[in-house]
Amino acid sequence: MSFESSCDETSVAIIEDGEKILSNVVATQINSHKRFGGVVPEVASRHHIEQITICVEDAMKQADVSYDDIDAIAVTYGPGLVGALLIGVTAAKTIAWAHNIPLIPVNHIAGHILASRFVTKINYPALALVVSGGHTELVLMKEEGDFKIIGETRDDAAGEAYDKVGRVLGINYPAGPKVDAMAAEGKDAFDFPRAMEKEDNFDFSFSGLKSAFLNTTHHADQIHEELDKNDLAASFQSAVVDVLVDKTTRALQDYPVSQLILAGGVAANKGLRSALEEAIDKIDTTELIKVPNKLCGDNAAMIGAAGYVMAKKNVFAGVDLNADPSLEFDLLEDEE
Ligand code: ATP
Ligand code: MG
Ligand code: FE
Repeated sequence: MSFESSCDETSVAIIEDGEKILSNVVATQINSHKRFGGVVPEVASRHHIEQITICVEDAMKQADVSYDDIDAIAVTYGPGLVGALLIGVTAAKTIAWAHNIPLIPVNHIAGHILASRFVTKINYPALALVVSGGHTELVLMKEEGDFKIIGETRDDAAGEAYDKVGRVLGINYPAGPKVDAMAAEGKDAFDFPRAMEKEDNFDFSFSGLKSAFLNTTHHADQIHEELDKNDLAASFQSAVVDVLVDKTTRALQDYPVSQLILAGGVAANKGLRSALEEAIDKIDTTELIKVPNKLCGDNAAMIGAAGYVMAKKNVFAGVDLNADPSLEFDLLEDEE
């Protein structure tokens, strides 16, 4: 059984042998956060409290299991919103304690990456491009359960940039899917910056792109010029995708792994999926593993997959497990 409550999705899943999804119940709060243009932490916590028991019951019912069938409980304990994380952590600890079931602490980003286990067996070493609402990073995994960030965003995450730009285009939070759809209808007509593309590192930056986008739209507003929104979306998306694909293919030159995993909420982006596919097609030695669309966003199934891996590495927690809003991968290693 696994729990995810780090942001605005309450989710409980039942996973068999770390790779078969028996149930994966996701209660999203999007409608409650829409009018604020982003996730309001207090609102998120309250929703998690209301939803968590219902999710547990639904997940167990759909999977047709009782507590006797549960061998372990995996839970996201960071990174994320502290009040949101605490609901999942507390629920998981309570069930683990009450039924005497081992508890596995899981890093949310490890969950995003290891959702790929539902697609295929991972061959290590492997590289992951994680693009989500709060993270944009290249993660090297030398062996199972070992994570090292080799490049990351210096400012905004890709998903965050999508949401901010979407707001200017008049799209409700989370704007990613809609901007993606608009981009498919437009053309790359505006010359937006590809930050750090030529720099000799694997880091990213999206705040300059966001500013360039805002300047362009503000300027057009001032002179009462109507810009084509689809073209704006397409130009923004092509700048994001160019940098992500460019840095990732360059990372593969330094770290020639046989599998590249594309993970995180933004991994559902059609433009990114096809551009990366095309680029990786040209590298004979590397295969692209895309997390399925429905497992890209936050869900507990991915936490179950990561929990299985952590359990194999003997990473368990007691009832003193606490939420860690700024959890990093290193901490996970320290606990071995
Ligand atoms: P993190 O995982 O970093 O803690 P998070 O859990 O909030 O952050 P996810 O749920 O993994 O993030 O992803 C949500 C983000 O993905 C949102 O910013 C959303 O706009 C973006 N997103 C979802 N679908 C798409 C898409 N098709 N194109 C671009 N962005 C997308
Ligand atoms: Mg989310
Ligand atoms: Fe996430």
